[in-house]
Amino acid sequence: MMKRLSKFLLVLLTLCCLCAGCGSSGGNSDGAGAAGTVAGPGTGKSQSQTTTAPIQGSTPGSAAAAEAPAMPGQLTIKLLDVGHGDCILLQGDGKTVLIDTGDAPANEIVLQKLRENKVHFIDALIISHYHGDHSGGLLTVLRNFGVGRIYDAGVVNDYSNFVKKMFQEYADGRWNRTVLRRGQRLTLKDGFYFSVLSPGSQLLPKGKKEYGHYLNNNSLVLKLHYGKFQMLFTGDMEAAAEYQVMGNYPAADLHVDVLKVAHHGSRTSSTWNWLNTVKPTWGVISCGGDPVKFKHPDPKVLSTYDYLGIKVVTTKQNGDLIITTDGNSYNVHGSK
Ligand SMILES: [Zn+2]
Repeated sequence: MMKRLSKFLLVLLTLCCLCAGCGSSGGNSDGAGAAGTVAGPGTGKSQSQTTTAPIQGSTPGSAAAAEAPAMPGQLTIKLLDVGHGDCILLQGDGKTVLIDTGDAPANEIVLQKLRENKVHFIDALIISHYHGDHSGGLLTVLRNFGVGRIYDAGVVNDYSNFVKKMFQEYADGRWNRTVLRRGQRLTLKDGFYFSVLSPGSQLLPKGKKEYGHYLNNNSLVLKLHYGKFQMLFTGDMEAAAEYQVMGNYPAADLHVDVLKVAHHGSRTSSTWNWLNTVKPTWGVISCGGDPVKFKHPDPKVLSTYDYLGIKVVTTKQNGDLIITTDGNSYNVHGSK
């Protein structure tokens, strides 16, 4: 009996050792997998060294491109065709960003398009400025989707009761909201972030003529970095803001692959100096709506893009404008 029992204990002990070995081996393997996805200085460096495919349209050896870490994964940026107004959706690496919400009359279109794109939660809801065609859908978006945090430039629109009410609610702490200014960085993930180029701590002053220029010129201007891919988001910035940004940054820091053309291609913006500095391969324009009321883009502005060899697509002609990138190369196309 004792002999059978000790034999049984020996078998049990052997099994336990084997299982412990499996557990240990499994643990190591999991650990190695996790380490590969954890952001850290070592990880970034090795990824950067293994990247050989050049980004289309970038200046070889430019300081900005050389510093950017390579990114695994895929980012899709869509300038949604919502008539007159901006509504730009970025989805990648498990993160969702929405820049502007379209105008109030486009609420249903915005909702439909966000649902079509399987949006449930928006990690960062960025409002470039509080004109209706950029923020008119804000409440609709907040009511229909989870939102992690709202980001803006902190510039109220004194002519909009809705915006004044929202700013009161921000002040009361009803929403998670952060004001961004030049020099800050909004990071979604390692290698996926926005640099804030404008406005600075001092806002551009109110002009004597139209209040609208003041809001436009204090639009959030963001430079997206996704691996080596870079894109500028400009809201409705006008010439004054373009010159101020050019005064604050060396030209190499402003060069990008794709430019979200400011102010729907209006002649208030896209100065020759600005375009010749940014030197994008593509200019993407959000425009549409009533053709009598909104004559965007301006033919003179389009001719400047053409003269400088910058390819242009518009939501009015091409539908949703879709940019996909893996951080090494990118593709731009329209939905129609
Ligand atoms: Zn606008």
